[in-house]
Amino acid sequence: MKAKVLYSKAGLATQILIEVEENYFLVDTGDGTLRDLLSLEIDFRNIKGIFLTHGHFDHIGGLYALLGYFRVIERKNEIKIYFPQKSQETKSIVFSFIKSYNDIPFPLYQYELKGGEKIELDNIKINTYRMKHYAAVGTNRILYPEPAIGYRFFWKGKSIAISGDTALCPGLINLVQGADLALIEATLTKDEATEELLNKLHLSLEKAQEIGKLAKEFILIHQK
Ligand SMILES: [Zn+2]
Repeated sequence: MKAKVLYSKAGLATQILIEVEENYFLVDTGDGTLRDLLSLEIDFRNIKGIFLTHGHFDHIGGLYALLGYFRVIERKNEIKIYFPQKSQETKSIVFSFIKSYNDIPFPLYQYELKGGEKIELDNIKINTYRMKHYAAVGTNRILYPEPAIGYRFFWKGKSIAISGDTALCPGLINLVQGADLALIEATLTKDEATEELLNKLHLSLEKAQEIGKLAKEFILIHQK
């Protein structure tokens, strides 16, 4: 099992590819996901699941293009999309795609997650964890809580944890603790990291490193 960060930049796009033998699983589909995948020259039929951490545009902006591409290449095998319950942006994109065509050649299954689910898909297991992440605009002006999920992939005794965007929360500790590899967001600079932002929005570089040490190895993503 390997994790490849296709791209990750805060407020722009994040997309991560998990590879397990011949199967692929995407975690987040920010803008440019299709371009990034095409550059890898992989078989798109082997992308079996799309796991979205939350509905902010920098994490789902490339979803429509990817689904559109699946249709154009006449993919026949099913695709499963997992996302946090009540993620309105995600549901709207998938709904819009489904309603735009009456000739979608592949079954599309949607699963809404609360956190705490145990998923099995193509010989891998995925546990979900509820994260804590608020919507914000401008310079970190906090709005309202956003449903957000972290994912931990298990395969042959190894595990990879992916936080998505998250503030400090108990779910994050459980997600990362003991993982072989953790991909952790580290959005805030030292100067930005007020207590309120750390408690509602994002991790700082320092906090992300602290959390990362709960795993055997870690990579920091979603930086500016
Ligand atoms: Zn983000």
